[in-house]
Amino acid sequence: MTTKKDYYDILGVLKGASDDEIKKSYRKLAMQYHPDKNDSQEAEEKFKEISEAYAVLSDSEKRASYDKFGHAGFDNRYSEEDIFRGADFSDFGDIFGDIFGNIFGGGFGGTRTRGPQRGADLQYELRLTLEEAYAGKTTEIEVPKIIVCDKCSGTGAKEGTVAKACAECRGSGTVSKTIQTPFGNMISQSSCPTCRGSGRIITSPCLKCSGKGKVRSTKKMSVAVPAGAPNGMRLRYPGDGNIGDPGAPAGDLYVVVRIAPDNYFAREGDDVYVHIDLNFVQAALGTETTVKTLGGDVVMTIPEGTQNGSTFRLKGKGFPHVNSKAVGDQYVTVNLITPDKLTSEQRGMLEDFAKSSGFEATTKAGVKKKGKKEKWRIF
Ligand SMILES: [Zn+2]
Ligand SMILES: [Zn+2]
Repeated sequence: MTTKKDYYDILGVLKGASDDEIKKSYRKLAMQYHPDKNDSQEAEEKFKEISEAYAVLSDSEKRASYDKFGHAGFDNRYSEEDIFRGADFSDFGDIFGDIFGNIFGGGFGGTRTRGPQRGADLQYELRLTLEEAYAGKTTEIEVPKIIVCDKCSGTGAKEGTVAKACAECRGSGTVSKTIQTPFGNMISQSSCPTCRGSGRIITSPCLKCSGKGKVRSTKKMSVAVPAGAPNGMRLRYPGDGNIGDPGAPAGDLYVVVRIAPDNYFAREGDDVYVHIDLNFVQAALGTETTVKTLGGDVVMTIPEGTQNGSTFRLKGKGFPHVNSKAVGDQYVTVNLITPDKLTSEQRGMLEDFAKSSGFEATTKAGVKKKGKKEKWRIF
């Protein structure tokens, strides 16, 4: 027992070394003597030594005991399994996870500490009209989510009681064991089965959350959709998702903008498309007509001789672009309306008009263009 080397010497650090210095030195040595890089018996022994020294010196309680009693007192108090129990080898997982993930088909993933889990991200669909998307909207929403239990403030323990540190993992939430591999003994670390990684045992659980420390609820919050928001736009609210395990961050909330289709305005990117009805006289003579835009009514000049299906552009009457000063346009397509009821006076005028234009007028079937016989029918 006395021939055993000093743990500080093994890691090449001074007795008063900081946790960081110890970790750094361990990482360096572990890389150097790792069985994957050195297959000699000596390297394997050295690696074991380093791991043991680190398991003790990285644990404040074990380190204090070792400082006080040295190997002699220490070995009586702790079995080999005890030494590795609770040791933080998460760095080890970081260094070798990839290598061992390949060799052991991922089985070595157990070396990585599962640790407290981050809360889940949430998605909330916010329905808006086209007008609301155009102008932008700040609104209050109620998000169903997992929040801290207000009854126990997240401790999971019933009022007036406290959670005890888990005896199995000594409150660390993780257990380590030595496993045999072709490269020698490795430390496998996993979530403590007794406390499920929380490090605490609740003897009288909170009645509201059954000891989970969190409950399903809804939370009101204000969200701001920018003017010109496109359909499907995702707004991220960091930390407004489900809460995480104690010590882990909450998830994020994504508010997804869903814009209802509109009967009048059709949107394509920042541009807007509409149809307007004009009677054939307005189209022939030209006119001024009021057209609805998202920003309000505008008066538009229709030139004489406008054809059915003609499209005009109202510059800058589309959606504002969310990330720039650019603004889309509104396109107005003309739909010509032919009168379907004529007084005899009107009919006479149109017949006169047809004659003067050289059209051949028929009494029953309306007006046909001269010399053109096309088959047609009404759908
Ligand atoms: Zn509770
Ligand atoms: Zn435990």
